[in-house]
This record gives sequence, structure tokens and C-alpha cells, in this order.
Amino acid sequence: MFNSQSPQQPSLSGISMASAGGAAGKTPADMHDLPDLCHKCGRCCRSATTFNSYPKLLELVEQGDQEAIDFLEIFEPFDSVEQARAVVPEQVQRVIDEVSHRKDMHLDELTFYHCRYVTEEGMCGIYERRPRCCSEAPYHGWSMMPPGCGFEGWQFEQREMQKAEIRKLKEIQYQMEALSPDGIRTASGSMTLDELRGKINEALAPWKTFGSQHW
Ligand code: SF4
Ligand code: SF4
Repeated sequence: MFNSQSPQQPSLSGISMASAGGAAGKTPADMHDLPDLCHKCGRCCRSATTFNSYPKLLELVEQGDQEAIDFLEIFEPFDSVEQARAVVPEQVQRVIDEVSHRKDMHLDELTFYHCRYVTEEGMCGIYERRPRCCSEAPYHGWSMMPPGCGFEGWQFEQREMQKAEIRKLKEIQYQMEALSPDGIRTASGSMTLDELRGKINEALAPWKTFGSQHW
């Protein structure tokens, strides 16, 4: 599910905070510092989705997976996608559009969740003890937040930074390929071209779903 992935891994959708402070809340030291951009609309708390199916989440709970436990402690599944659509239609459509072209997720396994603690006003009723999946969201540029979320600009910036990092590595690779006398070693000899290619592929892998092979 989204929450059980490493913050460096791409994931779908918004388990996020719409709270007093919401995304502006403190994030763990090992996470990026989130700017205070939350509009406190509460939509992400009413339309969460996970990478894993609901039955899989229940299985994880049985196995003692703490993140699955935390997640299902606050989130209740909607009975149907249509029920979720009635609440946050724009996010439901966004997630469906995304999942429909992914090979690692299936539309018929998609479940939307709403938090038990989001107030009518879109605030977090348990802000001080909200779980990590809330305090760390949006994890990165590709977390799928509802359209119009205050983090849209920040997420765009994050995505561009990620791409720029990878392009930089590719530039080095091309330069080294051109300069390397035997086509194998880098000029400095500190890293072979194959090692460099491996490093680039490693950096690209988590973002393939988002087209990183074309960056
Ligand atoms: S616990 Fe709070 S921040 Fe987390 S989803 Fe619920 S209302 Fe939103
Ligand atoms: S959708 Fe975005 S702006 Fe709205 S509450 Fe969630 S994080 Fe804040």
C-alpha cells in the first residue's frame, strides 16, 4: 500500500492530512521538510487509496504489519467506488485514470477509504496522534493528491528535481562514454561505465511507472 512503501518509492494517492497544521506538521528528521501548503480541505482524508488491495491489507494486519494496522485503524473502506465518487469525485477519477494504465494495479481491486477522524470542516480530529502515513504525506512528487491540493506546485517541483538528478547522471554517462579511451572506464577511473549505467538504472527503476525511462 502507499503507506508501507519507502518514502523514496513512487506511490499513488493521498493519504494525507487535512488537519490543523495538516501537511504543515513536523515530519521525521529523515524526511524532507514539507512546506506549509495545506489548504485544509480534508479531501485527501476522505479519498485515500492504497497500492495493496483491501484483502491484502487485512492479511497484512493479521501478520502484524504495523503500517497496515495503523492505516486500518483510521481508515474505513467505502462500500464501492461510486460511493467514494460521491464524496471526492475529482480524486476518484484521477486515481482510476492512473490505475487504468498501470500493470501492477487492477481497477477491480481498487478500494477507496475515508478517515474516521476527519471533521466536517476538514480538520484532523486526532492531529497530535495521527499516524505516520498522515504526518509524512505527501511523500513525494508522485503521491497522488486530489486535484487542486495545495501541494501541487511543490509536487511539480519535486518531480522536476528528481528528473534533473537523473538527467545529470545520464549526462555524465554520455560524457564518459565519449571520453573513455576503451569505452569501459570513466576518465577518473573511479567508476566503470557499467557501474555508472547500473547506478542510473537503479535511480530510474522506482520511477518507471511515471515514465522515467524517457527522462
Ligand atoms: S488521521 Fe487526521 S490527518 Fe490522518 S487521514 Fe485522518 S483526519 Fe486526515
Ligand atoms: S488535499 Fe491537499 S490541501 Fe487538501 S487537506 Fe489534503 S494535503 Fe491539504
